[in-house]
Formats: sequence, structure tokens, C-alpha cells
Amino acid sequence: MDDDMADRKNRDKPDKLDEVIAGARRQRELREQTYREQALKLYPWVCGRCGREFDRKNLRELTVHHRDHNHDNNPPDGSNWELLCLYCHDNEHSRYLDNQAGSMVTKDERHSISTHRPFADLQKLLKKKND
Ligand SMILES: [Zn+2]
Ligand SMILES: [Zn+2]
Repeated sequence: MDDDMADRKNRDKPDKLDEVIAGARRQRELREQTYREQALKLYPWVCGRCGREFDRKNLRELTVHHRDHNHDNNPPDGSNWELLCLYCHDNEHSRYLDNQAGSMVTKDERHSISTHRPFADLQKLLKKKND
């Protein structure tokens, strides 16, 4: 096993930048997992918009929304979190982007947000947030 590890190190030396990025990603994933867990402990598993109820089987579809849209703002009392189902969460972000029309969001982006399927939008939003 040790030989294997040494072998891998020699074959492709990890790039410093890659390492930093990977580290940051791990941190972020860890943080997201943590606030999600905290939020799920704090709040009943119900969508705050449509009232849909969740259990362990479909809990993946219940997401943690940040009320101020700042994912770095995670007060331990949960005041910045809201549990939303995927659909309502997507809605919430579309509305937020609409409100910012003309400032941060370009015309093209707004156009694609209003025409794409909700899940595609969500993916896009999540991706953008994470970048
Ligand atoms: Zn909902
Ligand atoms: Zn959100």
C-alpha cells in the first residue's frame, strides 16, 4: 500500500494550485455539509414555501437556502437559513436575480433563467455560487 502511494506521487506530482483549489473545495464541501446538518437539526423537514414534507427517503430534495443569499453567513442560531424544496429554492433565486436586473445579471443570463427548466437553472445557479 505504501509503495502504491509513493508510486502515485512520483508519476504525477500534484500541482500547487490544484492542491490549493482542492483544499478550498474540501473546505467548502465540509462547511456546506455542516450548515446543512445544522439546519436540518434546527428546523422541521418541511419546505418553507410550499409546505411539502420530507423524510429520509427524499431529504436530498430539501435544500438549505440562505436568506441573505450569502453562503458564508451561517449564524449558529439558523436565522439566515430556510429549508426549501428544490423547486421553491430555484424560484427564490430566480426572483432574487430578477430583482437585480440591470446590475449584476446580464440580459442573456436573465433570459436563460426564465426559459430553462427549473432543474437546469438550479444546477447553473449552484455552479455559479460555488465558483
Ligand atoms: Zn417547496
Ligand atoms: Zn438559496
